[in-house]
Amino acid sequence: MTTPEIPPTDPQLSAERLLETESVRSQPTAPALLRPEPSGPDLLDPFSNGYGFFPGLPGPEQAAQQALWLVFSRDSLLLTEELELPTTLPEGAEGEVYLGLQGEREVWAARLTADAPEGQKFFRLRGLYGRVPDWLWVLGGYGYQIAEWDRTHQFCGFDATPTVRADHERARRCPKCGLSFYPRLAPAVMVLLTRVHEGRPQILLCRSPQFPPGMYSANAGFVEPGETVEHAAHREMKEETNLDIRGLKYFDSQPWPFPHSLMLAYTAEYAGSEIVPQPEEIEEARWFFHDELPSLPGRASISRRLIESVVGERPD
Ligand SMILES: [Zn+2]
Repeated sequence: MTTPEIPPTDPQLSAERLLETESVRSQPTAPALLRPEPSGPDLLDPFSNGYGFFPGLPGPEQAAQQALWLVFSRDSLLLTEELELPTTLPEGAEGEVYLGLQGEREVWAARLTADAPEGQKFFRLRGLYGRVPDWLWVLGGYGYQIAEWDRTHQFCGFDATPTVRADHERARRCPKCGLSFYPRLAPAVMVLLTRVHEGRPQILLCRSPQFPPGMYSANAGFVEPGETVEHAAHREMKEETNLDIRGLKYFDSQPWPFPHSLMLAYTAEYAGSEIVPQPEEIEEARWFFHDELPSLPGRASISRRLIESVVGERPD
């Protein structure tokens, strides 16, 4: 057995590599986040939120006593009167999925089509933001996505054979043709456009026909196959408002479990053209001075943080 020959170091190549590294280092950095970045062991936390939840596989065959149960009915989560997770599985629940550990406690998800047991109630997950601790809200979103994916991938999409759960990764497999089905994740891009008009800064906000009356937000849309996120940012803005943009700057990202998107948020500068809202997608797109803002999305959403990162914190 011979060792592969190691090529001598090419000084030219090394210099180029060094330059590359330098140019990457000199890129402008993203704007400061409005929350502290996690540090220390929390960096291992895949949610990057420092809340101590670690997804894990494979799970035990059966749930431990006093596990935490995320029980869903559609997009509603079962909680006790104290707005805490139940620690036993309600009768009639099905589709149990092991999620991981919260501290030392097992976390499982399941579904219940019957009414909530006595002393417990279903709460729509979206409406729980701010009413339960952040870790519970984030965990609820994760559990909801996994439970929904598991429920809707019981059969192979190619040959309709019942699928089985894989042991060591979050996947369902077809035992006949070998296709694997992973939890779906749809990347979406949001852009807050800025400009200076008559010497004062403005932001562009849009109204989708689905928004509550009077509410506006930053423009957003899904990334399509074959696109980079940046390309999607330019395309979405052009399609939905007819505006050109430049100077995209990454802000932050947020998983959004309704049903399975990952929102990547940017700011950008206005680079020309007149507003032409895309019919049916955008009811209105308008420039707003910072002191004349309309009603904004709630604090649970990255759009609110993105807007406030430019205009400063707003009262509700
Ligand atoms: Zn198959």
